[in-house]
Amino acid sequence: MISGGTDAVHEASCRCGRVQIAARGRPLITMACHCTGCRKMTSSAFSLSALYPADALTITSGEPVIGGLHGPTRHYFCGWCMSWLFTRPEGMDDLVNIRSAMFDDAPAFPPYVETFTSESMPFVTAGAEHSFERFPPQDAFPELLAAYAQWTG
Ligand SMILES: [Zn+2]
Ligand SMILES: [Zn+2]
Repeated sequence: MISGGTDAVHEASCRCGRVQIAARGRPLITMACHCTGCRKMTSSAFSLSALYPADALTITSGEPVIGGLHGPTRHYFCGWCMSWLFTRPEGMDDLVNIRSAMFDDAPAFPPYVETFTSESMPFVTAGAEHSFERFPPQDAFPELLAAYAQWTG
């Protein structure tokens, strides 16, 4: 399995605590997304996420339910407090995108890339190392993941 180094376990939970999850190790990459969809789902200026291999995620308590768009990309929420916890992206069954704001140690996940700056609110900066007007091109990912693995930011 792909691993970013440390095998530390990062615990996360929804607002009410009914759903507890844990992610093992360092993420493959961290992101901020300024897209309109993320803005609406987070009720905020942008979303923060940490991309992990799917098998690095453990649901330790509760049962997440599908929310958001209910489409091929599955957004998982706590069914009680409706907090958005993670996403299983369309066509990428081996990956899970965890909302890094939900981690107990959320400040340890600063965004390395930011996406959809074309839709960002003018008064907001996410402080990411790399900015993309939309999503990074598919062929940019190997290099971005390799650079993130070395990043100490
Ligand atoms: Zn909850
Ligand atoms: Zn987004």
